[in-house]
Amino acid sequence: MRTPEEELAEIRASGLWRQVRSFDPIPGAMECLLDGRRLVHWASNDYLGLANSEELRTAFQEAVGKLGAGAGASRLVVGTRPAHLALEEELAAFKGAEAALTFSSGYVAAVSAIPAIVGKGDVIILDKLCHACLIDGARLSGATIRVFPHNDLEKLRSHLEWARKQVDAKGRILIAAESVYSMDGDFGDLAGMVALKEEAGALMLVDEAHGVGLYGPHGEGRADALGLGDRIELRMGTLSKAVGLAGGYLCASRAWIDLLINSGRGWIYSTAPPPAMAETVRCALRIIQGSEGERRRGRLWENVAALDTALGLTGLDLSPIRPVVVGQSEAALALSEDLRSRGHHVPAIRFPTVSKGTARLRVSVSADHSLEEIESFAGALRELRHFSD
Ligand SMILES: *Cc1c(COP(=O)(O)O)cnc(C)c1O
Repeated sequence: MRTPEEELAEIRASGLWRQVRSFDPIPGAMECLLDGRRLVHWASNDYLGLANSEELRTAFQEAVGKLGAGAGASRLVVGTRPAHLALEEELAAFKGAEAALTFSSGYVAAVSAIPAIVGKGDVIILDKLCHACLIDGARLSGATIRVFPHNDLEKLRSHLEWARKQVDAKGRILIAAESVYSMDGDFGDLAGMVALKEEAGALMLVDEAHGVGLYGPHGEGRADALGLGDRIELRMGTLSKAVGLAGGYLCASRAWIDLLINSGRGWIYSTAPPPAMAETVRCALRIIQGSEGERRRGRLWENVAALDTALGLTGLDLSPIRPVVVGQSEAALALSEDLRSRGHHVPAIRFPTVSKGTARLRVSVSADHSLEEIESFAGALRELRHFSD
């Protein structure tokens, strides 16, 4: 039997060692203490700066005072707290969907929902760059899995043709993709995929983890901003990134949501998130949809434009994620360390989060970064030669 120490030694030898660092954000700034070192951080998915905002701090405290700390049991066993029901109603209205269901995280939403939608005898087709939770949900489902190269619609079309022949009259075909890809920051070709899935009579699940809060006039997400919302059966996302809190959601027709309530195992067999969390998410959604949300989105896009200009990047999709692909794991770690010594915390992303040979720094921009921080960071990165011509 191999020991965990032996396995860890292999992980270390291949440059894939992961370690936990103490990260302490400094309220009101994009600075943090990382293992005690004061750095500007470019690592958080809190794109709108809501997680540490005065508004949500206050709302969370008040909600705990009103609703208590824990939920106590799963929602079917003890009953569902009004805060969860109100949140789901508001989420559905926000997304223009018939119904919504919330989960303790986006990851749990995917691994609960996908196996409730497809199973043995069905086919699930994933974009190659899909997040681990979509892959894990697909594996757990028992459906036959097909993968197409990132945004390759021709390959998707041929998978759909193949799948049509595989499934019987009751069989389902589900396409899973993201609206904004988490490690590349580029867009999924949603319009192209929706057209193909309609032609094939398939279903579509879009993960808006990096879209919700950011796109559309009220931050509804990219699918909705493109007017595709009501043509996508299953719209999933997280409440943990731009929304600033924690949790996952799925918006769909009443029937799909009822099916998840009846067979989504990660929802049925897990304690409900604290009701104060749901209550605070309601507050975050109001902010996102209002003028404060618009102001924060405006600042975020100004910051992204400033970073692109400072780094000489052009033609990229407008997202807060900017990858700096380095190649080898060790080189990505070294660049990350060099940037830390210059005062900036940018995480190195390695296999299996991204494919081998494409290790990178993942830069995420927030509405709360200042222009000085952007200039300083871009200067450090340029100096470290990766953007020199
Ligand atoms: C972060 C992420 C998730 C998971 O959401 P959590 O709420 O953090 O569990 C799902 N999908 C994508 C694309 C993500 O980036």
